[in-house]
Amino acid sequence: MANDRNKGKDNGRDRRDSSSEIPVYNQTQIRSLAVLDEVISRTEPDDPKIQYLLLLRHQLEVDEQQFAEAQELIGKYDEAYSKLTQPANRIAVFLGKNEDGTANIAMGDSDFYTNVDPNVSVDELMPGTRVRVNEAYAVVGDIGPAQNGAIVKISEVLSDGRLKIGGDVQGSNARVVVRGGAIASVDLKNGQEVRVEPYGRVALEAFKSQASNDFFLESVAEVDWSKVGGQEQAIGVIRDAIELPLLYPELYERFGKKPLKGILLYGPPGCGKTLIGKATVHNLTKEYRERTKKDVKEYFMYINGPKILNMWLGESERQIREIFSTAREKAKEGYLVFIFIDEAESILRTRSSGRFTNISNTVVPQFCAEMDGLVSLDNVVVILTSNRPDYIDPAILRPERIDRKVKVVRPDKKATHDILGIYLTETLPLDYRLVAEFGGEREARGSLVDRTSEFIWRKNPETEFLEVYLRNGSVDTLYWKDLVSGALLTSVVERAKDYAIKRSIDVKSTKEGVSWEDMERAVRTEFKENEIFPKTDNLEDWLKLVDYEPDNVVSLKPVHQKKNASALRSSII
Ligand code: ADP
Repeated sequence: MANDRNKGKDNGRDRRDSSSEIPVYNQTQIRSLAVLDEVISRTEPDDPKIQYLLLLRHQLEVDEQQFAEAQELIGKYDEAYSKLTQPANRIAVFLGKNEDGTANIAMGDSDFYTNVDPNVSVDELMPGTRVRVNEAYAVVGDIGPAQNGAIVKISEVLSDGRLKIGGDVQGSNARVVVRGGAIASVDLKNGQEVRVEPYGRVALEAFKSQASNDFFLESVAEVDWSKVGGQEQAIGVIRDAIELPLLYPELYERFGKKPLKGILLYGPPGCGKTLIGKATVHNLTKEYRERTKKDVKEYFMYINGPKILNMWLGESERQIREIFSTAREKAKEGYLVFIFIDEAESILRTRSSGRFTNISNTVVPQFCAEMDGLVSLDNVVVILTSNRPDYIDPAILRPERIDRKVKVVRPDKKATHDILGIYLTETLPLDYRLVAEFGGEREARGSLVDRTSEFIWRKNPETEFLEVYLRNGSVDTLYWKDLVSGALLTSVVERAKDYAIKRSIDVKSTKEGVSWEDMERAVRTEFKENEIFPKTDNLEDWLKLVDYEPDNVVSLKPVHQKKNASALRSSII
């Protein structure tokens, strides 16, 4: 029996040994199973209780398994809980790495010199990327560059690659930012837009500049002086004022004369201000090239005044700044730079004058400051044009800014003749009957030019065009001749060509050419329909066209309106 017991005991030990293979039980569990195993080993195998004991053992094992699983789950919850209740990381922007492996970061306006968690590779951090920092401001993670941020214009690319951005007339709010990794070696231009990260310290992304292309024309069509009819006096003044100082700088220096910085071309529309501007650019560059033996190119910046008149506060100033900074940049690159501002009165107005009074009045000071800044610069010429020079702020027209005002007048009879001669070219097909009548192409062309200018310059009831009521009580009648312009003459010739083309089509002939009747009809239609003449009797609109001191004019009345009215009256009577 004792033996049996012992045997049973041994058996029990064996079982206990095998039970020890069950993994990971805590002390209490091991003890419960061990005790149970002890009981089982001491129970005879044929004892009916053994079944219950084995069942109990199985249940205990299942419970312990579940207990282990529950514990594991609690462990996970614990971990998640402690993560969620940890203090938040702040976000800073990485500016650069120091030699000792520490980092420079910025948070808001403050900069920090800070340690980096060894798990973060400081060498891989790019300037501008956002980093997580812990309570000790140590960098503990990289979360990549910000995807948002303000868009700003570059006002100047500094020689070391940093960027000057923003800033108004006085230069306040201007800042310098560094470039982020993505645009570190991109070629950036003044006036281009970049996105800075939310702390405003690093420029992260660059956008293609579009605005510049809207306003600037880099090359200019070849306009020889011979393509400008009349205007001898204006051309003479321009050549003396602009060409000579550029072509003979040493002479000007010897006589202590400062070269001119800018001129104002003023006069009625369509009389050649832009044309003269382009001719100046083309011819001056040509002569400069010949004289200096350098392959100098012109850089013609055509700026349409009303177009940069922007209602957004500060936007026009920014554009003025951009224009001048591009000019300086191009001059440095060796270009001969011309800033041509058409309809300058729209942006450079006296602050009290007429319409557009809601424009930001800092454009004028900005422009003056930029003009003054040109002192030390060579090779930048500013040309303004205007139909209403009386609207231009006098500060602009002071000596050493736009020092020379050149009047571009309406064509006189001789100039009318010259301009018609320019557009009735030698290659233009003329009416064969006319050629036969005058005995040759040249003679026929000459007669067409003579006759057309005589026709325009007639003074009779048909050519009465405008009545001007003056402050002194008198009334002036203006005729076609008083409102003729280069643009109108160009248009007359183009219209006559259209008539000749249509006739060729109608009569199915290749021999048709511009006839006297075409020219006569074209002139009549031009004075009736030309878009350059205002359709109403609005004083402001007409004052741009007529050569009167605006203050002396009370009102204006187009004669055809008057004639129509009296025709209507007589038909009613
Ligand atoms: P503005 O700048 O004075 O308003 P533009 O120079 O733009 O006038 O003239 C418009 C067009 O009229 C020119 O492109 C040219 O075809 C013609 N034109 C004007 N004046 C002259 C001129 N003096 N000689 C030749 N063509 C002229």
